[in-house]
Parts: sequence; C-alpha cells; structure tokens
Amino acid sequence: MGLTRREFLQLAAASGLGVTVLGAARPARAASKAGVGILIDVARCVGCRSCEMACKKYHGFPEEESADLGPQAWTYIRTVRLNRATPHLQLGEAGALQRTVKIQCRHCVEPACASACPVAALRKTPEGPVTYDPGRCLGCRYCMVACPFQVPRFEWHDRMPEIRKCNLCAERLVEGTPPACVEACPMEALQFGPREQLLAEAARRISNDRSRYVPAIYGAEEVGGTAILYLSDIPFEELGFPVVVREPLPSYTWRALGKIPGVVVGLGATLTVLEAVIRRRMELNGSARRKEEREQR
Ligand code: SF4
Ligand code: SF4
Ligand code: SF4
Repeated sequence: MGLTRREFLQLAAASGLGVTVLGAARPARAASKAGVGILIDVARCVGCRSCEMACKKYHGFPEEESADLGPQAWTYIRTVRLNRATPHLQLGEAGALQRTVKIQCRHCVEPACASACPVAALRKTPEGPVTYDPGRCLGCRYCMVACPFQVPRFEWHDRMPEIRKCNLCAERLVEGTPPACVEACPMEALQFGPREQLLAEAARRISNDRSRYVPAIYGAEEVGGTAILYLSDIPFEELGFPVVVREPLPSYTWRALGKIPGVVVGLGATLTVLEAVIRRRMELNGSARRKEEREQR
C-alpha cells in the first residue's frame, strides 16, 4: 500500500513536519495545540491486556477482563475479527485474522463532553487530560449524550453516582510519570508524549512502512483532533471506528442542544425516572426473593 503524494502531504501537515504546499494539504488546526497524549499502534498490539490490567490495578478496580468501558473499566481491549487474512506485524500469520484495539477516552482537543456540561465538571487541561470534578457534577449526563465515542459512564448503582472515564492518569503526569497503561505495554504499541511529537512519529512510521500502514492517523483531525492517536494496518472503518466530522463538536453540540432544550431536559428527567424505576424494581425483586427464601426454610 503506497502513499499518494496528496496523502503524504496531508500526513506531513497533520504531523507538523513543516511541509508547506499551499492548496495541497488541509491545515491541521489541532496539530499546534499543546498537551500530551498517547499514540496507539494497532499493528503492534498483540492483545495481551497488560495495559488494561495496569489501569485497573493503578486505579483500584477489580482486575478482570472487560468487554466494554465501564465505571471500573476506563480502558479495555476490543477484538476485531477480519474478513481477510492480513499478517500481523508482531504475530505474523498467527495473528492474521484479527486485530486487538485499545479503547479509552480520546481526550479531545475541544471536547464535546466538556462543552455540554452546564457546570464545567469536565474540562480540558492545558497539559492534555480531560478531567472530571465530581464536586461540581449535577448528574445530568449531558456529557454522555454529547461524546462522539460513547466514553463517559455513569455509576447507576451507586448511592452518590459519578461520571467515570479515563483521566489520562493526570495525577501521575503531575509527578512526571507516564500513564500506567503505557508503562505496562511490552510491545511498544503505546507511546506517550507531546501530541505534536506523536503525530510526527506516526507519520514517520507510515512513511517507513508504506506497504503495511493505512496512510492516515485517526485523531489527527477527527472532531478537531484528539490526544489519543491511532495508527493501523487495517482501515479504521473495519476496526469499527466511527466516521466523525473533522470540525470540533462543541459548536455542533450547542447548536443542537440550544435548539432543543426541552428535549435535553426531558432526556435528563427521563433517565432519572428510569433509574429510580430500575432501582425500585431491583429492591422489590430482592425483598420478594428474601421473603420466598424465608418461607421455604
Ligand atoms: S472522547 Fe468523549 S469523554 Fe473523552 S474527551 Fe472526547 S468527548 Fe470527552
Ligand atoms: S491513561 Fe491511565 S486512566 Fe487512562 S487508560 Fe491509561 S492507565 Fe487507564
Ligand atoms: S499492553 Fe500493549 S500489546 Fe498488550 S494489549 Fe495493551 S496495547 Fe496491546
């Protein structure tokens, strides 16, 4: 798979390599934004889940495999079966029929979740992580509706529920330590660093192995750019990545929400009522079961 001239110029522009050809390459608006991130190389990932377990261990969650994101699963490894055999960079023919992909919050440069939050409980820090302040959160769950990657999760069963998602190990970054998941990866499928350096590294890998890599960096421009960037040897659509707009979503979010405040408020209210009904049913089922057990004794 070779890079076309246009694709190369787009990559060079996205990675900030300094190639300037007017009219040939789309300017990468997010490339100049500061902050750190993670480059995830799908071609190198062998699906060992060391990253997933390291995240759980560090954050004190149960160390068991997850099949989706959750309040206690801020990252997980998704397995994607392929329609045609494509030898894996590390596993060769043995890994030709599937790919494993690390899923987590993308730490968007202009996050829709933060924009949708009416009390700024979520915010993009200049350092890179999109962080959450439970002390501010109202529990409206607008962030869940706004996120284009379905990342934020709600603690439905907690008495004092919070929104939960990856925080890019912000507390470790303050101490100069990389995220736990990155440190745990034995295959160098995860690389941590300033976003602009990661874009340049991704462009370098593509350019050095054009027969393998898809000539695109997912996250370079999607939704205005994300701090989590993906490289792959399989087209991103085949990995199940959503096709999203290249502009930041906050403007869309507010345009949409502003037009339908009743719907949004209604949605929040509906979720709250639904939660109360589910909780009540669970309590009733539990007490009915306990009563039955008492009668059988
Ligand atoms: S991926 Fe979703 S939750 Fe994460 S920063 Fe972007 S909009 Fe927010
Ligand atoms: S950056 Fe930290 S919180 Fe996020 S997935 Fe990695 S280990 Fe988990
Ligand atoms: S630790 Fe590295 S190789 Fe293992 S599943 Fe995670 S990203 Fe893939």
